[in-house]
Amino acid sequence: MRNHIYGIDIGGTTIKIGLFSRSGLLIEKWEIDSDKSNNGKNILNDIASFIKNNVIPLDDIIGYGFGVPGPVVGNTVLNCVNLGWKEVNIKENLKDLLENENIYVANDANVAALGETMNGASKGFKDSVMITLGTGVGSGVIIDGKIITGTNGAAGEMGHIKLIHEHGLACGCGNTGCLETVASATGLKNIFTELLAKTNTSSVLRSVEDFNAKLIFDAANNNDELALEAVDKFTYYIATAIQIITVSINPEIIVIGGGVSKAGLPLLDRIINHFKNIGFSSVKDTKIVLAKLGNDAGIFGAAGMVKV
Ligand SMILES: [Zn+2]
Repeated sequence: MRNHIYGIDIGGTTIKIGLFSRSGLLIEKWEIDSDKSNNGKNILNDIASFIKNNVIPLDDIIGYGFGVPGPVVGNTVLNCVNLGWKEVNIKENLKDLLENENIYVANDANVAALGETMNGASKGFKDSVMITLGTGVGSGVIIDGKIITGTNGAAGEMGHIKLIHEHGLACGCGNTGCLETVASATGLKNIFTELLAKTNTSSVLRSVEDFNAKLIFDAANNNDELALEAVDKFTYYIATAIQIITVSINPEIIVIGGGVSKAGLPLLDRIINHFKNIGFSSVKDTKIVLAKLGNDAGIFGAAGMVKV
């Protein structure tokens, strides 16, 4: 009987590799650099070499799960700007090198959502949605403990819900006014910059040239009037997205993760307060919690896709 599973989270800077037991316990984890030269051609070979040189023999590996920063249909990544990949079928590329056909691939936000269900904030819940607030906004939908990908792999691309209908900022996807333009770390900066220009409200950050989301949160925690106004708007937009999610999917629990979630309880409490005001009556009490696994969510979720 084979005893080990690999969960691999391929990111634009590093590749996180987790070795798990058959029952899903994390045994050891490593990080290797993502080699983006030659349109990321070496990435999969680098992963295969690392695994082959590891102490666990290939014939003891049950299977492999991969999270990738782009849309995925089947085992094919359609477009990974961060890695320089166009269309890459990970299973076809690796099954011979790893002598294993038990290979699964999903988008990284979806994999992180599954990871939180395997071992984090949504453990024990069958239906959950995780929203990842980072440089952009990602999300993953888990129904009956499984990732929902949709026809084109776009299920859970909630960062691109069109939320601002007039004078919306340009989004990386080509549209304007997407959730991502107002609910990411960049989004908070956008909101604050607009308020700075529009109002005369005093703020300690007026004299700061290069501020970021963290400085805005810190100022808000110190009762800076303008920072508080920006954070209030920011959390209202997130609550609006949660309002849409709850009436579309009606999950048991919403998990908030990503770098921005490090702002912690002051962020969460504001989101919950706004949601209580705008949530549809029967879903108003949907649990909203902070993610628990941080950067490990990806490897847990990737391993969690592997059929044992
Ligand atoms: Zn967009």
